[in-house]
Amino acid sequence: MEFTCARCDKKKNIDEFFTKKYITKKNAKHKYRLFKICKECYYEKRKERYRQDSKFREISKERSKIYWRKNREKCLQKYKEWYRKNWDKLRLQRVTKINLERESLIKMLGGKCKVCSIKDFIVLEFDHIKPILNAERNFSNILREVKKYPEKFQLLCANCHRRKTLNELQEYYEKRAEMLSKVRKP
Ligand SMILES: [Zn+2]
Ligand SMILES: [Zn+2]
Repeated sequence: MEFTCARCDKKKNIDEFFTKKYITKKNAKHKYRLFKICKECYYEKRKERYRQDSKFREISKERSKIYWRKNREKCLQKYKEWYRKNWDKLRLQRVTKINLERESLIKMLGGKCKVCSIKDFIVLEFDHIKPILNAERNFSNILREVKKYPEKFQLLCANCHRRKTLNELQEYYEKRAEMLSKVRKP
């Protein structure tokens, strides 16, 4: 059996529509009512509302939290399947997002190397103005850090960045040697 979706106007098979169970008051029997829009359109509509309606978003989040707590194993299994199926798409989304973020941060910091003024985005890097030498460096978080404390960073191209880092290292070891020599004296 085929029905026409009220939203996309396409003819679709009956199993591409949701049914809603409801109870008639008269004799308390279950009856089924077919949704006027197809499943695809239903999901689209929900997504749109989720994006626009902040109250609806809160309610949905709360509901899914409760559902997750009750059906943890099942949800986890489903999530894993979904993740595996959408891995390529998700990865592309992530990479695109990171690239856009990186680009906007580079623009914010002037868009060129502080030393040689090269403007090629591919070779530009974020440099801690105050060097971090022995602290644990976590480069996966660098974009987040630049966003949070832009005043701590400057743009350098890969070449200038390496020169600066080497100079800093040299300075650091010289200072360290000096300090050690002082300590060892009686
Ligand atoms: Zn439809
Ligand atoms: Zn440079």
